[in-house]
Amino acid sequence: MHAAQPPRALTDFTAEELRALMAAERQPTYRTNQVFSWVQKQGARTYDEMSNVPKALREALAAKAPVRTTTVAHEEPSADGTTKLLLRLHDGEHVECVLIPEGERATACLSTQVGCGVGCVFCASGAEGVVRNLSAGEIVEQALELNRMAGQRLTNIVVMGMGEPLHNLDALERALRILQDPEGLDFGARRITVSTSGPVKAFEDFLTRGLKVKLAISLHAAFDGLRKELVPRGGTGDIHFLESMSRRWFEKTGRDVTFEYVLLDNINDSDEDMRALAKLAGRHVNVNLIPMNPVPFAPKLKAPPNARIERCVSLLEEEGVVVHCRRQRGDDVAAACGQLRRFHEKLEDGQETAP
Ligand code: SAH
Ligand code: SF4
Repeated sequence: MHAAQPPRALTDFTAEELRALMAAERQPTYRTNQVFSWVQKQGARTYDEMSNVPKALREALAAKAPVRTTTVAHEEPSADGTTKLLLRLHDGEHVECVLIPEGERATACLSTQVGCGVGCVFCASGAEGVVRNLSAGEIVEQALELNRMAGQRLTNIVVMGMGEPLHNLDALERALRILQDPEGLDFGARRITVSTSGPVKAFEDFLTRGLKVKLAISLHAAFDGLRKELVPRGGTGDIHFLESMSRRWFEKTGRDVTFEYVLLDNINDSDEDMRALAKLAGRHVNVNLIPMNPVPFAPKLKAPPNARIERCVSLLEEEGVVVHCRRQRGDDVAAACGQLRRFHEKLEDGQETAP
């Protein structure tokens, strides 16, 4: 992973840090609130938009930090209503995020890394390893841009885009603190879900920090050997560790956990798999079955036929598990995690033609 740090943008500042920056300019508190609100609530991209902030102050701040460091490289609407954004980062890397409108809800799916080091066999984000962590500002800017695009206030955030969030815990924590600030987008604990493959050490750290979020654990297998194959660098093949973490999480926060389980035809979809999964889930864990979205680099992996998917759902229900089965949306714009970035980069390299 190379270590290019982006220039620090205003989007990366918590309200407290912004207060310190403003204090150096001898500014009263209400000015900090004004600027923070311009950045986080109104989603200003430039200082010019901050019409009620004196020009001299805008110039002084501009000399210290840009408002943002990312720009929209590509916007891809899909027939099912989702829109995927590809953001260009200051160093030329790209990262994806998705807006998912559903009735009254508008959910933003955010990335935390360029690429991913975990290497799940079915995932486009992990196919070429991790390039670098995102800064908090780069995570926040995804939410701000999607909020602007949504035409309504975002109601939910899922950290389920590119990257393993717990491998970038400091930036994630800072980004969440900013997004949960009442003077900003003001996200409550029940409206943000962090999804993780469950790296052991980072998981302990995550639990100690007590972030105010909902937790989803990407399990994908109910047996250790199979999990190791599907999630090769998960930092653990030990399913019982994940089960115990979900129990500890519930005891600590009182919030249920979701096990995510990508269904793969003839690999993890047998009756035996489902019964073992039901046992692991127990009482405080919901299960989210996700029929695999096809990826070009793993042509042999696919979702089970519908009848098998239905059988998986009913087997779990028979065992008393609360189960949801969701098709990944946005297939027609390669919206499954990590695919648009790979496609875009191949286009830039001249290796592929547009669809
Ligand atoms: N790294 C984190 C969060 C990002 S991935 C994690 O793994 O939890 C978010 C979810 O998308 C995971 O559950 C992941 O398994 C799923 N996913 C990745 N590629 C997929 C594919 N091709 N089809 C269906 N789900 C996929
Ligand atoms: Fe990384 Fe999650 Fe993709 Fe696995 S599914 S490679 S952990 S982003």
